[in-house]
Amino acid sequence: MDYQPIVGLEIHVELNTKSKMFCSCGNNPNAVIPNSEICPICMGHPGVLPVINEEAVKKTIKTGLALNCQIPKCSKFDRKNYFYPDLPKGYQISQLYMPFCKNGYLDIRVDSLSNSRKFARVRIREVHLEEDVGRLKHEKDYSLVDFNRAGIPLMELVTEPDLNSAKEARKFAEELQLILRYLDVSDADMEKGQLRVEANISLGEKGKLGTKVEIKNLNSFRAVEKSIDYEIERQTRILKAGKKVIQETRGWLDEATASSRRVAGARVVDELRSSSRVAGARVVDVRGATVSQREKEYAHDYRYFPEPDLPPLHFEKEEIEKIRAEIPELPQQKRERFKREYELDGKSIEVFVQNKELGEYFEKVVSEFEPRLSKEKLSKVIKLATNYLITDLQGLLKGASVSDKNFLITPENFAEFINLIAEEKISSKIAKIVLEEMFKTGADPSHIIQEKGLSLITDEKKVEKVIQKVVAENQKAVSDFKKGKGTALQFLIGQVMAKTKGKAHPEIVKNLLTKILKELK
Ligand SMILES: [Zn+2]
Repeated sequence: MDYQPIVGLEIHVELNTKSKMFCSCGNNPNAVIPNSEICPICMGHPGVLPVINEEAVKKTIKTGLALNCQIPKCSKFDRKNYFYPDLPKGYQISQLYMPFCKNGYLDIRVDSLSNSRKFARVRIREVHLEEDVGRLKHEKDYSLVDFNRAGIPLMELVTEPDLNSAKEARKFAEELQLILRYLDVSDADMEKGQLRVEANISLGEKGKLGTKVEIKNLNSFRAVEKSIDYEIERQTRILKAGKKVIQETRGWLDEATASSRRVAGARVVDELRSSSRVAGARVVDVRGATVSQREKEYAHDYRYFPEPDLPPLHFEKEEIEKIRAEIPELPQQKRERFKREYELDGKSIEVFVQNKELGEYFEKVVSEFEPRLSKEKLSKVIKLATNYLITDLQGLLKGASVSDKNFLITPENFAEFINLIAEEKISSKIAKIVLEEMFKTGADPSHIIQEKGLSLITDEKKVEKVIQKVVAENQKAVSDFKKGKGTALQFLIGQVMAKTKGKAHPEIVKNLLTKILKELK
């Protein structure tokens, strides 16, 4: 019996607004002093009233529009009631009935996943807005709570179960992260908990949906992929044994965490929880695995009701269109444009799409090239610029960005540098030296070449002199050449280049050397 994996995702995103969702406390993910960003509103003191953060609403709608969602004319907030020590109010303001965004989709590329399709359409059920909870820190005999995160705008995106493998789920999460960064709605750093993924997995049989299991605590793309693969295997084993899968919530422990935290069940479960509320859960298996936390809870368990302290929100068409107009070029549009305009290969395009600053710098460099260049010449300098940016410059940057203040090479100087290589005024060996110097000082390349005497020797007489010397000193290679050994010529060219410290023009060396060697016969 073959089972078809069916995967849906729920993704929480902390928005990068200036202030919290319902009060004026700072939204500062780098705050180091616990409980320094709190006030009576986010602490739920009696008599206080929340105020909706307009920036958070706009960022949510912007995300929804970028994901092809409909924006209903009217939305409202609901109150989700439960107790947990990281939730000072005893309830969370969220959206259950009328979210800001509905019925969207995102197409992800799946052709590299050995699929017959090029793209897979993942429908997005909704994007809604709520507030984050605080952080618990567990010590040996007690726990501490930091409310700095409590009340930070938290956007939740829910997909339909349209993904069919762990790899597809990972791809979706990665593409979403990129879109969120392009939109500048979140830094979406998974390590900092700004992007948190939960996955629903069921194994369908003959087109029917199976029992849904939810995995929480996925805080890296690797964890998303590995946990879903694990869960597909686990459920297949259960079904093949003729048993039933239990509808429940499980947490993910990677191998390292699992082996270092073989501790009392309750503690492991508590550390696993993100927004989950655990009571008396059992730990079943802790070896790089998903572990049972609790059986599934339902919306009605939370006694949702319309938030009485906040009015419903109405949107005019013009307001929505104004937000839509602010959406920048998105990653997929950029991939298509880079292919069309610059005819780059897929791998290079991906580097420029993933590293947005480098992609923007590349375009500035290209705009510095002489517009009257012939098509072939333009294509040549664009290719050269791409290679030097992706390999040599990225090597020098060592992970730093071209948008950093202390990055000194102007696009104009970089374009000039590429022109010098294209016009064969410097060899690739010299180019490395020049680029390093440009990186250090920001000086323009012609200046560096002149000052350091690095320009290519194109004077044939000078080159010939060196060749004569090399020929005299390497009689064995010369006789090898006469015997027809092809490698001998390469060796002799290398000797000439070494003697001129890479400055002899390679074309001239090759032609002259061949001519001289033939005359020797
Ligand atoms: Zn506050």
